[in-house]
Amino acid sequence: MDTPMKLVVVGAAGRMGKTLIKLISETEGLVLHAAVERAGSAALGQDAGELAGVPKLGVAVTDDPLAAFLHADGVIDFTTPASTVEFAALAAQARIVHVIGTTGCLPEHEAKIDAAARHARVVKSGNMSLGVNLLSVLIKQAARALDAAGWDIEVLEMHHKHKVDAPSGTALLLGEAAAEGRGISLADHSVRVRDGHTGPREQGSIGFATLRGGSVIGEHQVLFASEGELITLSHSATDRSLFARGALKAATWARDKKPGRYTMLDVLGLNSTP
Ligand code: NAD
Repeated sequence: MDTPMKLVVVGAAGRMGKTLIKLISETEGLVLHAAVERAGSAALGQDAGELAGVPKLGVAVTDDPLAAFLHADGVIDFTTPASTVEFAALAAQARIVHVIGTTGCLPEHEAKIDAAARHARVVKSGNMSLGVNLLSVLIKQAARALDAAGWDIEVLEMHHKHKVDAPSGTALLLGEAAAEGRGISLADHSVRVRDGHTGPREQGSIGFATLRGGSVIGEHQVLFASEGELITLSHSATDRSLFARGALKAATWARDKKPGRYTMLDVLGLNSTP
């Protein structure tokens, strides 16, 4: 039998960090090796278990990722783009698994993560849930079947009021799936904001609408609108542990893979779906 996988949670005091610590403590075959927070965080020195609302785990929250990654098998990272890039370099040095849920990464962050993936096994996805990844496959198929002349694609999302990036990583992932289905680049066809006298809708564009408020964990709809009919494909997340479960599944999946960059479609075996 495999030895337990030793995982580091970075962003340990965050919404996802606490959810991950709790789930790791409850999952056979996984152990919390270290918990990392930013310098100055009020959580430093606290027991990670207590922080996450479970019994003590004997792991004090630290702000030293270098020491934390030593002898670990993997890092689970739901933090910020700037810190994710730093963790990617350290995970590459340590040649371990790096599961990245952080959203809002810009092309320069992605390039650094690509470089790190020459040595680390990186799984990165804007959404770690089975449901959203399956939905992305369905959206790709629908976008391929419904031509741009007759069907307009719009992506609508709502999240809690603390979320700092927009559109959400999930909305972008779903938009990418639609663009792939159409054989176009999302960057060249997306409309992120509409305000004022915008003129009529440009054919073939993929529009995004962002709502923020309350404690909503994640609501997404992709609409295909035509003359006289509307198709809506949607996903609702009602519990954050959904993303944590997906991230832990990704970590165990990547454990024996070659260095490289993977997505949840690889983890879930959905990548071969046309
Ligand atoms: P959060 O703000 O509650 O938590 C982020 C934590 O990271 C904070 O505690 C912060 O102090 C910590 N942090 C920041 N810089 C750090 C550093 N250099 N070292 C260590 N810790 C550091 O946010 P959240 O709601 O947990 O979300 C975190 C990220 O995950 C966001 O980008 C969010 O969009 C994304 N997210 C992705 C998925 C997915 O399935 N891919 C799901 C939920 C959230």
